[in-house]
Parts: sequence; C-alpha cells; structure tokens
Amino acid sequence: MSDAPSPLARLGDGMRRHAGLIRALQWAVVLFYAVLLVVPACLDLPPPQARMLDNLAVFAQFVFWGIWWPFVLLSMLLFGRLWCGLFCPEGALSEWASRHGRGRGVPRWMRWGGWPFVAFCLTTLYGQLVSVYDYALPALLILGGSTLAAMLVGFLYGRGKRVWCRYLCPVSGVFNLLARLAPVHFRVDEQRWLANAGPHLPTPNCAPLIDIRRMTGCADCHSCGRCSGQRGAVALSPRWPNEEIVVHGQRTESPWPVRLLLFGVIGLAMGAFNWTLSPWFIALKQAGAEWLVARGIVWPLEANAPWWVLTHYPQNNDAFTWLDGGALVVYVLAWALLMGGWLTAALRLAGRVAGQGRAVHAHLAQALIPLGACGLFLGLSATTVKLLRYEGLALGWVQPARALLLAGACIWTLWLGWRILRRRGVAPLRQTGALACLALACVPVLGGWWLMFWGWS
Ligand code: SF4
Ligand code: SF4
Repeated sequence: MSDAPSPLARLGDGMRRHAGLIRALQWAVVLFYAVLLVVPACLDLPPPQARMLDNLAVFAQFVFWGIWWPFVLLSMLLFGRLWCGLFCPEGALSEWASRHGRGRGVPRWMRWGGWPFVAFCLTTLYGQLVSVYDYALPALLILGGSTLAAMLVGFLYGRGKRVWCRYLCPVSGVFNLLARLAPVHFRVDEQRWLANAGPHLPTPNCAPLIDIRRMTGCADCHSCGRCSGQRGAVALSPRWPNEEIVVHGQRTESPWPVRLLLFGVIGLAMGAFNWTLSPWFIALKQAGAEWLVARGIVWPLEANAPWWVLTHYPQNNDAFTWLDGGALVVYVLAWALLMGGWLTAALRLAGRVAGQGRAVHAHLAQALIPLGACGLFLGLSATTVKLLRYEGLALGWVQPARALLLAGACIWTLWLGWRILRRRGVAPLRQTGALACLALACVPVLGGWWLMFWGWS
C-alpha cells in the first residue's frame, strides 16, 4: 500500500470523516421508505387504468419493485454492499435500536449458517403467495414486518451492532454472494495492521461484526467506511472482480452460501419468476383440480383465504384458491429442487473429472454467481419492463439486451471456472473436462430463462 492515498482511498477516508452526513442520509432514506411503504397501503386499490404519474400506489410499486430492488442488486456487483452500509433503512434502524437496547450476546441458535437460506426461500415463496409485487398491503406486511423484526433483534442483541444483518436478514445471503464480484473493496493489509503500533484512530464500530484485521473480501463487509485508514492498513481499493472468488474462494466455509446460490438464487427464484407464464403450472393446477373433484373434495377450490395468507382481491378478479396456493408452492419448490439438484450433480461430476472430488465443489460452485446474479436482475427487472410497458413505452431493445446479458454472464461463469481450476493446479486435460461439466450445468439455467422470456411469452 503506497503512502500517498489514491483518490479511491481518499473517498473511503471521506466516508469515515463524514459519518454524521451518512447518518443523516440514512434517516432521509428511512423517511422516504416509510412513506412509500405506508401511504399506498392506506389508499384504495388503484383502478386498472391508473398510471404511475397520477397514482401514488402505482408510483410506489414502480419505485419499490421496478427500480429499488433490481438496481440494489446491480449495485452489489458494482460497489459491493454499499447499499447496506450507506442506504438500507432496515440496517440503519436495526443498528439504531441496538444502540438503545438491551445489549445481549448473540444466542447460539441465531448463529446457525442456514438462516439466510431459509429466510430467502420463505420470503420469496410467501411474497408470491400474497402477490407482493402487485399490491401495497402485502408489501407493507413483508417489508414492514422484516423491518420491525430487524429492530427487535437490534434492540435485544448487540450494542450498536447489526446482528440482524449478520445472521438473519433474508437478502443478506444473496448480497454476500453478489458482492464477491465487486471491483472495489476495503482492502486490509494485515502485515501493516500488525506492524503499525500507533497512535491509532479510535476503534471503529463495525456494525456487521467483522474481524477487520483478517477481512479478505466484500462478502460480509457493508462498505460503510468506518474502518477506512485504521492503523494505516485499511483503504478503499480497486481489485480484479474475480479476485475474491478465485483467490479466496477456496477456503472451506459453511455449505449454506453454495446451497443458497444453487437452490435459492438460481432454482427457487426462477420458479418464482416464471410461474405466471408457465403452461406447466396450469397443467399442475388442472391435474390437482381433477384429482380433488374426482374425490368430491371441493373446499380447496374456494378462494376464501384472507389477503395475508393468499392473494385476495376479488374486486380486481384476482383471488387465489387454496389449490392455487398449494400448486404454486409445489411448482416453485420443484424448480428449486430440480435446478439445484442438477447443478449440484454437475458440479460434483466436475470435481471428479478435475481429480479433486468434493474439495473443488464449493469453490467451483461460486463460478455460477454471475449467472445467478444475471437471472435475479432479469427476473426482477421483468417487473420494471412490465410497468414501463403499461405506461406505453415499447422497449423493443429489451429482448436483445436480455440475450446479451445472459450470454455475457455465461461466459463470465465459464471464465471464472477456468481460473478457479487453474488456480487449484488442475491438469489442462482435466480442466477441459471439468469446464465441460460446468457448461453442462449452465444449460438448463439458460433454458429456464429462455422459456420465461422467449418460449412462453
Ligand atoms: S443485510 Fe439486509 S437489513 Fe442489513 S443492511 Fe443489508 S439489506 Fe439491509
Ligand atoms: S469492515 Fe466493518 S467497519 Fe470496515 S467498512 Fe466493512 S462494515 Fe464498515
């Protein structure tokens, strides 16, 4: 690390110096978030002809699902978890509650590594059951409920920390994966940290509970800048976007991030995005209905569940029967299991072909992060495109752009796979075989997106 700080390092130092400004920004986002969440839920349902410029509920729907979510995801790939450190209202409120709370230690059950996986899957499924993208009340219930839970956890555990973010947040596992590709991070020079006896800046409050001295990447770091310049060893720095995965991804870690990637981010999310277009879903429902009627069981065909259990807006001709809800759960879980199972099998085969068995599996699986990230972005931005088309925009360039993004993500995945295999010292012939397995893994993922955007549209 040279002694003259780079412009990027100065930017990081500026974030540390202007912590008060960042806090003010966080409160402004909290306010904006609260208005967008609460006000539309208090209004009548928008009429079918409502447009975003003349109806607050439609405008809020566009801001939340059309802009906020897809571009927060994109920001993970560009800047790491800057969203978490600087803007996220939930993280800010959880930390604020923790500053004024009980300050208890983190309980053992909360440290279980599977919570982000479970929370992501349950939130995604529940969101589909109550049509969270289409109505303001379920958005208030899911996002507002999650924020209240984050505040409660903050109030009970930690002292000025983000225990919620570290262990429980439903999107933290996804952000952890995506941020590994960011081209900037707070780089820590451990030698320098140890050698620099002092005087030091006061110890920073790292809210997501990171051991800063040993930090090697972006996955858990919220990029808040509070540790910038600590011991002259921490600086915001550029990096090769593949570095965290290729160089540091071989450390043995919990199996849950890989499970989240294969079964959740790729499998479950794909089913959750495509069921509304899928003829297979309709066939599943019809088969279920025939089976029930043949046995004289009719109550699952009634649409009488409340809106917070299943979508229930009869005034919009939009109400789910119990059968709809059950078929949706089966359909989305089937995508998760089939896609995740296929990817796991292909990666295991790649490990065998590479001659390193299971050791390579978790490392090579991370090569699929670009493809998973691209799928999430395309799936979420499908809502952006839909809402903009309601507004009368043709957006003819969208389909070619989708094809290009998928092709680019697939190439990036294969490139990453090749670099990982080389880094692990796999022989050239075995590299080719293992890469062929990785390519095989990608085929149904591309096929799934093709069905959603071309085959079924
Ligand atoms: S981990 Fe979740 S709650 Fe915490 S700051 Fe990030 S997005 Fe917000
Ligand atoms: S290591 Fe902690 S304090 Fe440093 S930037 Fe990351 S989240 Fe902030």
